[in-house]
Amino acid sequence: MSGDRRPLPRVDEESRGFWEGLARHQLYLQRCADCARLRHPPRAVCPSCLSSAVEWVEASGRGTVYSFTVTHQNHAPGFRERLPYVLAIVELEEGVRLMANVTGCDPGVVRIGMPVFIEYEDMTDDITLAAFRPIP
Ligand code: ZN
Repeated sequence: MSGDRRPLPRVDEESRGFWEGLARHQLYLQRCADCARLRHPPRAVCPSCLSSAVEWVEASGRGTVYSFTVTHQNHAPGFRERLPYVLAIVELEEGVRLMANVTGCDPGVVRIGMPVFIEYEDMTDDITLAAFRPIP
């Protein structure tokens, strides 16, 4: 679809709901069906209460940059074409954090605390990656 050569994630039973949501351009997070704690990345057992009861809830897609790095050197196919790029930990307004690229702006303007919104990068018919871009 995109001609993007970045390696694709391996979807497993624990993460399937997350990846299926992204493919529909929706961000879904796991929530413990017993204690209601949200978590990411997806995993089989709640880190708070050890329950394996899980439900998927849609997130807003809004967050702020919690931390980030700007990569200027990477010779791996799929990454060297994107230099320089920003890899960030984004804290969603729901309180969980996920790692993603920040796109749609000069890497030099990215700051901790910057408001961002999710965008979807379709890699294949089944795999979509999450990225974030600044909220103007
Ligand atoms: Zn729990």
